Amino acid sequence: MNWKLIVKDIKKQPAIGTYTDWKEQIAEECFFQCVYCSIHESQFGGIDHYHIDHFKPKIKFPKHINDILNLFYTCPICNRFKNDDWPGEPDLNTISYIEPSKYDYALLFDLNKDFELEGKYTASKYMVLRLYLNRAQLILERREAHRRNRESELRESINTLLLDVDKLDKDYAFEIVMSVTQVFNNLLTLEQKKREIRQYKLSDIRKS
Ligand SMILES: [Zn+2]
Repeated sequence: MNWKLIVKDIKKQPAIGTYTDWKEQIAEECFFQCVYCSIHESQFGGIDHYHIDHFKPKIKFPKHINDILNLFYTCPICNRFKNDDWPGEPDLNTISYIEPSKYDYALLFDLNKDFELEGKYTASKYMVLRLYLNRAQLILERREAHRRNRESELRESINTLLLDVDKLDKDYAFEIVMSVTQVFNNLLTLEQKKREIRQYKLSDIRKS
């Protein structure tokens, strides 16, 4: 997970147009990634596929429809799950959504060994459930990121070994080769699994 605190500034409220005209600005403020699940737009079809989220839903807060402080960038899946849901005013200890410009999301969740997010507060627990933040697609993305890190660590070990190839400890070298092979095999498996995954079913969204 790669959340970033979104810095919102009332001075950046555009003087003309409405929120759909400001998508580029909102994307940039949100680092071109979904504020809720942190998936980057480049992994998901780019800006045209991403949505503008009204943190306070427009149906309940018409005053904030074009309020730049209320507008965030999201992937279509998180946006569809969030929809007009507004269980209460943002508060860590009640069922609610936490504003991505008020809290660093990294402080709201723990990641367990199965790459699942666990909310640390009532609000973040609710967000995990409501936004399906442990959907199969996201678990795979987290696994993949973990493998990529492991792969680059191994590359570094190999480079260090090669610097001193004459004195190479054969057992250690063998161990590294085996680890590299395993990492690549895992990557291939993940790639395969990714193709088999449906990001969500229509019925998941329509039941809400
Ligand atoms: Zn998302």
